[in-house]
Amino acid sequence: MAEQNGLKNRGYSRSDVEERRAAAEAFTGTRLEKISEYTIDPEASSKNIENMIGTVQIPLGYAGPVRIAGGHADGEFLIPLATTEGALVASISRGMSVINSGGGARAAVYADYMTRAPVLRVNDIDHCNKVIDWIDSNMDRIEAAVAGTTSHGKLHRIDKYPNGRSLFLRCLYETGDAMGMNMATIATEAICRLIEKETGAVMVSVSGNMCSDKKPAAINMIQGRGKTVVAEARIPKDVVESRLHTTAAAITDTNCRKNLVGSSMAGTLGANAHAANMVAALYIATGQDPAQVVGGSMTITTCEDLDGDLYICVRMPAVEVGTVGGGTRLPCQQEALRMMDCLGEGKAPKLAEIVATTVLAGELSTLAAQAAGQLGSAHAALGR
Ligand code: NAP
Repeated sequence: MAEQNGLKNRGYSRSDVEERRAAAEAFTGTRLEKISEYTIDPEASSKNIENMIGTVQIPLGYAGPVRIAGGHADGEFLIPLATTEGALVASISRGMSVINSGGGARAAVYADYMTRAPVLRVNDIDHCNKVIDWIDSNMDRIEAAVAGTTSHGKLHRIDKYPNGRSLFLRCLYETGDAMGMNMATIATEAICRLIEKETGAVMVSVSGNMCSDKKPAAINMIQGRGKTVVAEARIPKDVVESRLHTTAAAITDTNCRKNLVGSSMAGTLGANAHAANMVAALYIATGQDPAQVVGGSMTITTCEDLDGDLYICVRMPAVEVGTVGGGTRLPCQQEALRMMDCLGEGKAPKLAEIVATTVLAGELSTLAAQAAGQLGSAHAALGR
């Protein structure tokens, strides 16, 4: 519509935004009074949005502090959460307080590779095998092509999935502190152009969906995508009873029947109570790509009764986060990242461990509420 009105799509001065919003108001017959009230410099959003007409605001709260002893996150953290779901922040805060009473959470990052998986058209099995051989014999040239597109990104390996006249290549990259999707896409295109030139294979799509970005996928569950993170806590028996008004046995039973059996019966990828809730609130607050909540939703939550103490753990195979680039450029999101000392270089694995610990706290609180039969009353009191 902006183009129809002769407006510039990529103008980012305040007056460009005002002009475009006025055109949107005229077209829709809607006054955009609240959307017009914002503090960010439109210029700062120039790589994040086209046709900018203003902003929408989402309430921001905090949970915690929570104590984490991780490989990267070490200390006490106040967690910024952007949500419109009443009761969510209170529930996560309760989980964090209980985790602290048990001595805090532990967390670790086990793998860290962003993926892009192009699909190439080949002639037949014979041609496909030749392309694979060429790739295996020319990794130095492929790595040089990647280096021509990024200084922080590094190709880790290329997995091959042949399928007749289609050859899928799952390219795994180290992406430094960037989430890495633009980086991996640009690098993969350079790889494909080289393969095309040398082998006659044709890149049909730089993303052949085996990546797999923004779609629930078994390949990401099993092999990981972005950061594979585990967080755990042990909550002493007396804390479970006095603070959560239930027992480790009841929470373990609830987790088994609901998260493990129920999820299995429903065929979900992942087995958790509501991991996506914590992931979405933290991703929105910190400028992550909200569509990648899908990866976070594939969390597996496990619980054990250890002589009356509760052991709880989350395994997150696909925490796709960055502390540079993308939405982390925006000023509010930068402040939210700074609250956890997670902005910029060297901070991405730390943020991933904080994400997993926040999910752990939310899982603990919700499972405990269900084990104690309190979920409905908590939502009635806080969310309605
Ligand atoms: P990006 O903002 O496109 O790129 C990150 C930039 O940061 C690169 O220019 C990199 O430089 C630079 N950089 C500086 N210091 C760095 C450090 N310490 N570690 C890593 N990089 C550093 O971000 P991205 O993470 O690649 O992509 C994220 C964006 O992609 C998000 O906006 C997301 O919504 C979007 N996205 C794109 C696709 C797609 O298919 N293209 C898919 C999903 C999401 P060098 O590369 O020169 O080293």
